[in-house]
Amino acid sequence: MCYFRPEIEALIGYTPGEQPQAGKFIKLNTNESPYPPSPRVTRAIQQAAEAGLMRYPDPMGNAFRRRAAEVLGVEPDWILCGNGSDDILTIVTRSLVGRGQLLRLPYPSYVLYKTLAQIQGAWADEVRFRPDWTLPDTFAAPSSELRLAFLPNPNSPSGTVVSRDAMGELAARLPCPLLVDEAYVDFAPANCLDLVRENDRVLVSRTLSKSYALAGLRFGFLVGQPHVIAKLANVKDSYNCDALAIAGATAAIDDQDWLRENVARINATRVRLSAGLEQLGFSVVPSQANFVWCQHPARTSRELYERLKQNRVLVRYMDYPAWGDGLRISVGTDEQIEACLALLRTMV
Ligand SMILES: *Cc1c(COP(=O)(O)O)cnc(C)c1O
Repeated sequence: MCYFRPEIEALIGYTPGEQPQAGKFIKLNTNESPYPPSPRVTRAIQQAAEAGLMRYPDPMGNAFRRRAAEVLGVEPDWILCGNGSDDILTIVTRSLVGRGQLLRLPYPSYVLYKTLAQIQGAWADEVRFRPDWTLPDTFAAPSSELRLAFLPNPNSPSGTVVSRDAMGELAARLPCPLLVDEAYVDFAPANCLDLVRENDRVLVSRTLSKSYALAGLRFGFLVGQPHVIAKLANVKDSYNCDALAIAGATAAIDDQDWLRENVARINATRVRLSAGLEQLGFSVVPSQANFVWCQHPARTSRELYERLKQNRVLVRYMDYPAWGDGLRISVGTDEQIEACLALLRTMV
C-alpha cells in the first residue's frame, strides 16, 4: 500500500513498555500504581454503567471539570478533558504545529513527543539536558518556525524537576506556547499551575494514570486560559472521553484524601528504593516522581534488565542515542521493591 503520507511512511511508532499477562511478572516498567484506585472510582463507574450507556457522553466532561476546578482552584472553563493525557498532547500538537515547523522538547524525555511531531510532518527540536539533568538556557532560544515546546516536569526518565520560577522564566522567554507535562507532579512538592494564570501561553497537562492509579481508565486533562481551551476543544474528537471514564475520573479527583495517602506511601517506598540501589553501588538520580533512573558502574543496564526479566521482574531499559542507557525502575509496593533489590544484590 503506497498511499500513506511520506511522514507516516517514515514513522517509527512509539513503543510503550511491555504489558505481559497479569500475575506473571512484578511490573516495575511503566510507572503504574502498584495499589488499586480509590474504591469510590469503581462504585461511580458501576453507577454510570447502570444509568445506561445508550446515550452519548457529555462532550466536555463537565462533571469532571466542575469537580477538578474546585480542587485546582480554577474555573471549569480552564479545563479540557482528554482520553489520557496522550490525547491532550495530540490535540495540542495538532492545533499548534504544522508541516515543516518546530516542536521543541528536552532530550532525553518522553519519547511520544517526537512521534507527535513526526505525524504532523514537523521537526522535533531536541535540546539536550546537561549530564546533571539541568536544562540549558537554549531551551528558550528563539527560532522562526518554533510553534510549541513540551517540558515534562518531573521529567521522565530522570524524575528531575525544573523549579516553578525557572519555568516561569522559560515561558516568558520562549517565543511559543509551553506545555508543562505534569504527569508525575503529584509525587513532587511543587507544581506550575499558577503560571497558567500569569501567561496564556502556558499550558499544564495532568493524568489520572499514575498518582490516581487509573492507567486503564484513560483520563487526563489540560489546564489553560479559557480562550485557549475553547480553541483546543474544536480540535478534539467530539466524544473523546466516554461516560464511564468521566464518572470514574470525577470520583477519583473528588477523593483527595486517598490521593494524599497513595502519594505518601509511594514516596516513602521511593526513598527505600533509591537508598537500596545506592547501597548496591548504583548511581541514582534524585527523583521527585514514582520511579528512579539508575546505572551500575560494573554491570551493563541491558544485562541487568535481561536478568531481572528472567527472574520475572520487569523494569524499563532505555537506550537514548548520543546520551546513554540506564534502567528506569517504577516504585512498586515495599515487597516488590525488596524482591527487585534482592535479585540485584545477586547480580552486582
Ligand atoms: C505516562 C505519561 C503520560 C501519559 O499518560 P496517559 O494519561 O496515560 O496518556 C504523559 N506524559 C508523561 C511524561 C508520561 O510519563
